[in-house]
Amino acid sequence: MGIYVHIPFCKKRCLYCDFFSTTLLERREAYIEAVITEIAARRNEADEPVRTIYIGGGTPSQLQAEQIRRIIEAIGTDEAKEITMELNPGDATNEYLQTIRQAGVNRLSIGIQSFQDRLLELIGRRHNAQQAIEAVQMAKEAGFENMSIDLMYALPTQTMKEWKADMEAALRLGIQHISTYGLMYEEGTALTQLRDQGQITPVDEETENAMYDRLCERLGQAGFVHYEVSNFALPGYESKHNGCYWNGTPYIGIGAGAHSYVGHIRSWNPSDIETYISGIINGTLQRESETLTERDLYNESIMLGLRTNKGVPRSQIKGDMEHWIASGLLCQTADGHIVATRKGIHILNRIIEDLMI
Ligand code: SF4
Repeated sequence: MGIYVHIPFCKKRCLYCDFFSTTLLERREAYIEAVITEIAARRNEADEPVRTIYIGGGTPSQLQAEQIRRIIEAIGTDEAKEITMELNPGDATNEYLQTIRQAGVNRLSIGIQSFQDRLLELIGRRHNAQQAIEAVQMAKEAGFENMSIDLMYALPTQTMKEWKADMEAALRLGIQHISTYGLMYEEGTALTQLRDQGQITPVDEETENAMYDRLCERLGQAGFVHYEVSNFALPGYESKHNGCYWNGTPYIGIGAGAHSYVGHIRSWNPSDIETYISGIINGTLQRESETLTERDLYNESIMLGLRTNKGVPRSQIKGDMEHWIASGLLCQTADGHIVATRKGIHILNRIIEDLMI
């Protein structure tokens, strides 16, 4: 099983972000105490060894390396194959990276997003391109051999030339995994407000699709396997933890707002750090939950399966897929699985919705 630990603290908010996070950094230690208490209470919940740990956020690198060590120690790493931590390039120092490596972190997910300083500034990131390059270098020196970076495309005013330069810069880093996301204008974010006021212009859909296509081609040429819509890895470096989410392996989510999935029951902690801290410390935490029905499980298998290069076994699909196959948006693999084609990925949500029951 997997364990996800949510660290909701950020030094400052990025303009596009609608994730659950807070800048109340003074609450970090109280939060970690609650996290460690929750781990002790729940780590045996799924009755399976912990094989992957993912410390995500927010910005986990806003914790002291010592706090990261305490979290990992509380979980125990006897059978953990992959221990990932998200890192903001602005937080990287040699000492920090060496200490978290010694604490057991063996995979980093670095939020680079872009190598263009003007774009980083535009979306409110607090690091620059040089810091990103140096963070990867320092991580290599600290002994990290498994690194992922996040890249964003379709940023306001971003040109294809800049996007191509970003891909080349990413490949020069010699990392093993790349996650990419087209910018989304989420309701209530500062960036959406700027768009609505006419102060920034989103890139058009055609350019966004062309950027995605170029990405798939370029990373394919560089030997990366496109194993999920947003994820590319050198062979053998696919994220094991994310695999839990895609193949139904149980996982326990620790921390405010974290979701768990054990025995067809999905549950989640409150998305408020004070409610979470007091609930854990007083033993009164209310966790909401839902039991997935057969229908829910089917819909999830379509939704998640079609996002991966493994697809969904043809025999398991209940909806009418023939017209999608005829129009070249889905296709069948040699082993009888249905997968989305590149063209299909552009409208994947529509296809998924059509095949759900
Ligand atoms: S660092 Fe991540 S979680 Fe924090 S505000 Fe930026 S995008 Fe959101």
